[in-house]
Amino acid sequence: MTLDLSTFARDKGVKYFMISYTDLCGGQRAKLVPAEAIADMQKDGAGFAGFATWLDLTPAHPDLFAVPDASSVIQLPWKKDVAWVAADCVMEGRPVEQAPRVVLKKLIAEAAREGLRVKTGVEPEFFLISPDGSKISDAFDTAEKPCYDQQAVMRRYDVIAEICDYMLELGWKPYQNDHEDANGQFEMNWEYDDALRTADKHSFFKFMVKSVAEKHGLRATFMPKPFKGLTGNGCHCHISVWDLEGEVNAFADNWADFGLSERGRHFLGGIMKHASALAAVTNPTVNSYKRINAPRTLSGATWAPISVTWTGNNRTHMVRVPGPGRFELRLPDGAVNPYLLQAIIIAAGLSGMRSKADPGRHYDIDMYREGHMVTDAPKLPLNLLDALREYGRNTELAEALGSEFSAAYLKLKQGEWNTYCSQFTEWEHQTTLDV
Ligand code: ADP
Ligand code: MG
Ligand code: MG
Ligand code: MG
Ligand code: MG
Repeated sequence: MTLDLSTFARDKGVKYFMISYTDLCGGQRAKLVPAEAIADMQKDGAGFAGFATWLDLTPAHPDLFAVPDASSVIQLPWKKDVAWVAADCVMEGRPVEQAPRVVLKKLIAEAAREGLRVKTGVEPEFFLISPDGSKISDAFDTAEKPCYDQQAVMRRYDVIAEICDYMLELGWKPYQNDHEDANGQFEMNWEYDDALRTADKHSFFKFMVKSVAEKHGLRATFMPKPFKGLTGNGCHCHISVWDLEGEVNAFADNWADFGLSERGRHFLGGIMKHASALAAVTNPTVNSYKRINAPRTLSGATWAPISVTWTGNNRTHMVRVPGPGRFELRLPDGAVNPYLLQAIIIAAGLSGMRSKADPGRHYDIDMYREGHMVTDAPKLPLNLLDALREYGRNTELAEALGSEFSAAYLKLKQGEWNTYCSQFTEWEHQTTLDV
């Protein structure tokens, strides 16, 4: 039974609903709707001029309606008057094919047709920085290896504990928080869930972290590489595939290598096969490519991948199998669109399962020191243009995400690349002046 949002408002004392959708560049767009008006909006959706957001629509398009998915509703723990609800984009009665949540739902339905249910957990790292964005917020946080720094995490206790308390209250089952590998960087972990739930929680988490940081006079950033020479913001994704009841993990096989079943290996094979193209989505900004393929950071390692390789419990490869029944994709970064992340993983994984793809040999070496020994694995794209071209050439993946989506995405991202290329940099002035 669908939850009635008017009743929810009455029961919880909610005065406003934030009807929210995520555009192609990951922007969260919302209208604040008074509870008195939510009944009609729950049916018909809230109206938006689609062109005003990143969906590759024109000013002449008819109104876009964001229809709330009531099952995703969350009362803001830090502002109980307001409830956030994820919405699906509809135009003239039809789903907007390029809208990220629509794309993800389509792939989840496809997996379900094959009797599969994908469950994932994400690790969206972030920095707490000064409000103007120029530096990290804690002047004492200067250690060369600041990971798990007890003193530094306690200096941000008020922010981290507030966010963790909210996750506890929401029933997300958070289980640990730490200072990460860069000065000013943190990670908070909660339990994995169905791909759509994880995508909604990932979106809400970003909104919550930014909101709480602002409340404390700080700013939070998920930018892939906000500071040169420091470890960047990853957004690793752990993946397992289950039966439709969610009871039997199809990836688990205690007798197999690393405890990863044959079906798990095929899914992984799809990720490996499509890695260079899926980077266009998992690493969606110009800045993303300063995190992967990067030189050693102050701490000694970037913790980000270089090549399309996989391994067991070893954090120097693109894919790590930390234990039986799941694997971790370490490629995605903090700029990734929460819905497209899940969608592209499912698309690549299903492709691998259908073709019984082989992930190839695993390398159990330190990729940062011995990566030169690997000669049969592609290097990850070196920049956004490389990745977009790979995506553009990969008709299987592009069609799996939908032709409308893929055309719109490539057009917007190519535009971003072109804008970047038109920048005149100090570096080129310095290095080219005397040619
Ligand atoms: P690490 O830093 O070692 O990569 P974390 O504990 O930070 O690991 O994050 C692990 C994530 O993987 C969490 O979101 C966790 O719930 C999730 N996870 C654990 N088991 C599974 C599984 N079977 N399927 C999908 N995700 C899982
Ligand atoms: Mg107006
Ligand atoms: Mg982690
Ligand atoms: Mg981490
Ligand atoms: Mg991880």
